[in-house]
Amino acid sequence: MIERPRGTRDFDPAAMAKHRQVEDALRRAAESFGFREIMTPTVEHLDLFTAKSGPGIIEELYAFKDKGGRDVALRPEFTASVIRFYLSELRSLPKPLKLYCLGNAFRYEEPQKGRYREFFQFNAEILGGASLEADAELLALALAALRHVGLRQTEARVGHIGMLRAFLREAGARQAAILHALDKKDFERLRAELAGAGLSRHEETLKTVVGLKGGLDVLDEAARLLGGDAAPAVDYLRRLRERLSHYGLADAVTFDLGVVRGLDYYTGMVFEIDSPNLGAEKQVGGGGGYTLAELLGGEPVASTGFAIGMDRVIPAAEAEGVRMSPPVLDAYVIPVGGPSRVAAMEIVRELRAAGFRVDTDLIGRGPSKNLDFANSVGARLAVILGEKELAAGKVSLKDMGTGEQTAVPAASLLAEVASRLGAR
Ligand code: AMP
Repeated sequence: MIERPRGTRDFDPAAMAKHRQVEDALRRAAESFGFREIMTPTVEHLDLFTAKSGPGIIEELYAFKDKGGRDVALRPEFTASVIRFYLSELRSLPKPLKLYCLGNAFRYEEPQKGRYREFFQFNAEILGGASLEADAELLALALAALRHVGLRQTEARVGHIGMLRAFLREAGARQAAILHALDKKDFERLRAELAGAGLSRHEETLKTVVGLKGGLDVLDEAARLLGGDAAPAVDYLRRLRERLSHYGLADAVTFDLGVVRGLDYYTGMVFEIDSPNLGAEKQVGGGGGYTLAELLGGEPVASTGFAIGMDRVIPAAEAEGVRMSPPVLDAYVIPVGGPSRVAAMEIVRELRAAGFRVDTDLIGRGPSKNLDFANSVGARLAVILGEKELAAGKVSLKDMGTGEQTAVPAASLLAEVASRLGAR
């Protein structure tokens, strides 16, 4: 037996139906906000990812040489690809550009519950917008997207990386390592990095700031602790909250100045959304404002984006009791006796042509076995073609939900199916 690679999964029909239901909800949310769908390749040149994150990222990537000897990697996320696409081809489109994509991403990490090597993301970006309005719009989409899926219990935490970047300006090249330690709440490493940068005096302040969480009062406290350098970022968050109030969302977010996000390209507002119903890997999504285009050699373009993890949203929705519809078959057509097979195929073709999801017996089962099968695959209706009935121009239509069975003129079967199921 050949096993699937570690950290990957197979999706059976029931799992895939959930996946599609959630994808559909996310897509509808994005389109209701005027975002348009794009797609980028699964495999990219390795440089695309090392350009922004440095060679250290290679350890976390599925990176390899292709047959032409080129260094390539499976995408670990979408943002870098979207920006590459933007810089090479989308630059001339009217701005702001509101783009979304859905697909798989790969990270070479230790698999555990909620953390896989192949996983699926819904990603949205706004490129070339004024940043405050774009950030608010993006956050509003992230919240609306989760609502569309049916989640009600998520917590959105918003911070601003510019606050710490301004405060740690003197740290120079060590800033990234300090931010990384703050992101991981690794206070031992923080102490070492601060000492290395000659900034040990800031240790207590930084620890206090990343522990601040709450409403507007938290911003006042941060302004007091961090001083004037951090003022623009603090003020930005105040205005962001005001802007969110225009969406009716002022109270939908909590300020959390501990949201740092490890990736080096974030420069502005940053946010994370958690579900309390998941285990250790409870973050269902996150994002923020960034300046990736410059890192990839393009002109600056105000950008803000987020990704939601499908593999966490689905169990979070199930934990909240969101109804996940199993795969559905509209009708299962059952010929009883050899001669009715021809008539059965006529009916199958007619219903399929009208857009219904229809299946029929392929292996010559008897009628009761066929009804069991129809039941097991979730058929809503069974169409039973008995020879006597057929001679009288009729077929039996059985509602698999209620068990009720009625004889229907064959000529009006399509209309009857449509009236029971709704036209497709
Ligand atoms: P990130 O790009 O790390 O901010 O990830 C965005 C979202 O993708 C996270 O909030 C998770 O929901 C999801 N995610 C990231 N990595 C994984 C993974 N290895 N397995 C499953 N979901 C993931």
